[in-house]
Amino acid sequence: GSPHFTAYLRDITERKRAEDELRQSEEFNRSLMEGSADCVKVLDTAGRLLHMNALGLCLMEIDDFGPLCGHDWPSLWPEDVRDEVRRAMASARDGDTHSFQAFRPTVKGTPRWWDVTVSPVRNGRNGQITRLLAVSRDTTARKRASDELQQSEARFRAGIEAVSDIVWTNDARGMMAGEQVGWGNFTGQDREMYQGYGWSRAVHPDDAQPTIDAWNEAVTWKRPFNFEHRVRRSDGQWRLCSIRAVPILDDRGEISEWVGVHTDITDRYRQQEQLRQSEQRFRTLFESMDEGFCVAEMEFDPAGRATDYRIVEMNPAFDRQTGLQNILGQSVRQALPDLEEFWFETYGRVARTGEPTRVVHQAAPLNARWFDVYAFRLGDGSNRVAILFNDISERKQNERAREDLLGQLREADRRKDEFLATLAHELRNPLAPIRNGLEIMRRSASRAQGHPEEEVVAKARTMMERQLGQMVHLVDDLLDLSRVRQGKLVLRTERIDIASTVTIAVDTARPSIEAGSHTLTVTLPQTPVFVDGDATRLAQVFSNLLTNAAKYSPSGGRIALTATADGGGIAVRVADTGLGIPAEMLPKIFEMFTQVDASLEKSQGGLGIGLTLVKRLVEMHGGSVEANSAGAGRGSEFTVRLPVAASGESTPAVENCVSQPTQPNASKRILIADDNEDSAASLAMLLEILGHEIRTAEDGQQAVNAASEFAPEVVFLDIGMPKLNGYEACRRIRELPKGAAPFVIALTGWGHDDDRRQSREAGFDHHLVKPVDPAELEKLLDTLGRRDSQK
Ligand code: ADP
Repeated sequence: GSPHFTAYLRDITERKRAEDELRQSEEFNRSLMEGSADCVKVLDTAGRLLHMNALGLCLMEIDDFGPLCGHDWPSLWPEDVRDEVRRAMASARDGDTHSFQAFRPTVKGTPRWWDVTVSPVRNGRNGQITRLLAVSRDTTARKRASDELQQSEARFRAGIEAVSDIVWTNDARGMMAGEQVGWGNFTGQDREMYQGYGWSRAVHPDDAQPTIDAWNEAVTWKRPFNFEHRVRRSDGQWRLCSIRAVPILDDRGEISEWVGVHTDITDRYRQQEQLRQSEQRFRTLFESMDEGFCVAEMEFDPAGRATDYRIVEMNPAFDRQTGLQNILGQSVRQALPDLEEFWFETYGRVARTGEPTRVVHQAAPLNARWFDVYAFRLGDGSNRVAILFNDISERKQNERAREDLLGQLREADRRKDEFLATLAHELRNPLAPIRNGLEIMRRSASRAQGHPEEEVVAKARTMMERQLGQMVHLVDDLLDLSRVRQGKLVLRTERIDIASTVTIAVDTARPSIEAGSHTLTVTLPQTPVFVDGDATRLAQVFSNLLTNAAKYSPSGGRIALTATADGGGIAVRVADTGLGIPAEMLPKIFEMFTQVDASLEKSQGGLGIGLTLVKRLVEMHGGSVEANSAGAGRGSEFTVRLPVAASGESTPAVENCVSQPTQPNASKRILIADDNEDSAASLAMLLEILGHEIRTAEDGQQAVNAASEFAPEVVFLDIGMPKLNGYEACRRIRELPKGAAPFVIALTGWGHDDDRRQSREAGFDHHLVKPVDPAELEKLLDTLGRRDSQK
């Protein structure tokens, strides 16, 4: 062959081989491109798009590559990444491979993230860079996953920071690693300190070992760790925390880490503890107290009437108090069919109205015991009633016993009053003839001119008169007191001048005052002061006070009675310079039978009832009395306060209190009827001395007969007489046909107002109480005489 040919052939062969090689390599490259999972593009060095693999077209969602061919590749990117793209191309042109990440939606708008690598393609012959290869890997899915992870991590972090709980992570063995913000903040440990097992130093030493034990168990069994222990807070306080940690397991089922939460439950625990303690306290109280306690659940009918209830709670005392067993939850109506309707009504009302109630009542089925019950509703509009109760049967019994006793005492007291009344009455009867007898002695002495009474006899008689006067006074007080106490004393109220009552009182007390050689000063208001009251009784009040003043002053004392206006009333003070009253006795002085010095040697002859009577009488007049004394030996002062009458219209005081000049006695025919012979005889003698003509009778019947034949002008009739009593006798005498109607006088030991009324009704003209004061008797007969002479 020719060298040329050979050369040519060689040349051809050479080229052919090169072409083959190239073809092969292009083939290789193409299949490489087409086989790639990425979007592969071939660019010229200027960046124009020459080729794109099929998958690339698909990834970019390009239907037709035609229009894109020759297009400037960077301009296909969004503005903000173009520079990056250009930089990558530039470095590829410089022979380097450059990568970047970028976001670029597909042509159809699907968002895609790409990892892009731009690398140079060299000409095989001279190694010149002729092409650029851009490989874009779709990383959207990966990116999304990592974004989500980031997000969830961010959320987790935010969550951790948001909750007050302490969230931490530990590695598989329980060592703390990394930043544990929550734990650090709470315990005040810094990262260095809590690192590894450092965290356990913040746990209370006593709780450390149990924590470790529990932790090891959780690790061994790979199960959640639940625990409570104390952790020292940054301020040094031990705080009780509850812990919950869960293990995170990897693919192989091994623990990769722990995520845990500490919750500070100290406050909650304390509250619960307090609640528990207060509940405990109440429970202890309810269980230990003697009072029965229960809660009843009420049942009502449609009309709102309580039909039944059930005990839903009770304390131990409930059984003791009621003797009931197994009543809990049962219908009370069924369990205790005999239980009083009262209980249903009471509890029903409490549940309906919500008003707490206290009742004392008996429960028949519970041995008829008495219960003191306090019931209140539990909560608004609830049908539950809390009931606190006490068996008070014993107390009731005691009460009854006490009432019985009181009744007996009252009865005894009443009998005593009755006895005092009878005693006074019976004492009076014998006093009448004595008084009459003394009077007779006096009269006959004064009559027997020329035979003057022997001096010793006169002395003895005066003494007897004085003693009798005192005795009459005592008996009168006794009788009055018993009447006041029996409510039998009625005031005969009229408008009276206080001065007139004072005058009477002074007269009455004069003998005692004179006996003690006391000086009495009486000061009365300038203008008359009127009082609505019983003149006799008020006079009795003041005379009692004056008599006491005289009695309790050593002889030669000064006594002052002063009546002054006092506010809207009048104050009558009786002051003396006598023994005085010790302060401790002052409050008691008005009580019955009280005497400052009750020793017999010092007795002043009293029963200790004078002041009691004074107080009662004054109070019956709407007034008050008080005693004052500077002390023993410094005198006493008694003040009586009385309301004054509105106007001063005075009605005449009691008739027999108006003293009139005595007129000579006109002789009268007088009939005296008394079954007490001495009484009748002595009165007869007295009246005879006074110059009257006398007849006597021993019983009612005799009296009527005598009246019929003797035609007396005046008749004295005893009330309690045999055959006919005084009332009946009086009635009969009134019925007698002929003669002037006699003036009939009841003569009796009974001076009750009742008795006076009764005698008035029976037709008596007057009522005298035994023993009749001769002066009074004389006065009465005088008035009769005047009345007759006026006729
Ligand atoms: P009586 O005088 O009958 O003992 P009273 O009821 O009149 O009973 O008085 C009770 C007591 O009060 C008297 O015993 C006396 O001790 C004391 N008393 C009363 N008035 C005076 C007084 N003016 N001065 C001192 N003591 C008095």
